[in-house]
Amino acid sequence: MARTILVVEDEPQIASLLTDYLSIAGFEAKTLADGRDALAAALSGEFDLVLLDAMLPGMDGFEILARMRESCETPVIMLTALREDADKVRGLGLGADDYVTKPFSPSELVARVRNRLDRYARLTNLTTGPEAEPGRWMADGDVEINVASKRARCRGAEVTLTAKEFELLVAFMRNPDRVFTKDDLYAKVWGSDHFGDVSTVAVHIRRLREKIERDPANPSRIETVWGMGYRWKLP
Ligand code: CA
Repeated sequence: MARTILVVEDEPQIASLLTDYLSIAGFEAKTLADGRDALAAALSGEFDLVLLDAMLPGMDGFEILARMRESCETPVIMLTALREDADKVRGLGLGADDYVTKPFSPSELVARVRNRLDRYARLTNLTTGPEAEPGRWMADGDVEINVASKRARCRGAEVTLTAKEFELLVAFMRNPDRVFTKDDLYAKVWGSDHFGDVSTVAVHIRRLREKIERDPANPSRIETVWGMGYRWKLP
């Protein structure tokens, strides 16, 4: 079945250009111009990826993305008209998977769509697909995890992680490049019903770094994004 892309773009020319390129590449594309309609569509679960313009009538792309990320991990590529908006996408840590600045090359954008879909499919397999089979390991650089047996290896050697450290590692590896705030990680790993303290996140990150980083004092995988949180860096 063709993978379906939601194109959220209020400029008709750009929307139809994108739809054309995506159809030629074998995707199905649906276009919406209004922000509120787009949020509802994005949350419907019908789409494999969302191309999201930043400036929209109704509700802007940043707010749509933030609302989406409360409950949904569908890959999102933001389209921004301004360099400052691109910085905002990155800086806010809203969980965009990628962004492009207008004017962009449609063929390059299609390549990025394909790349993001492939990566997402691979990482989703971690928990639901063949990757979750016993004995199946998934590697990202020198870090490997086995979700079924909750084991991790680093540079070929088994590392012993606590349940929470393992869940943190899975959250990072499933969302490379995404900036997680401490609150995000706390909600993801500890859950909203846990009567704890968000400061525990930093403690667990430190321990995880000690176990997987080559030089825990200068981490190369779990990067600190000052004033924001943490990001899993690709090798
Ligand atoms: Ca626009």
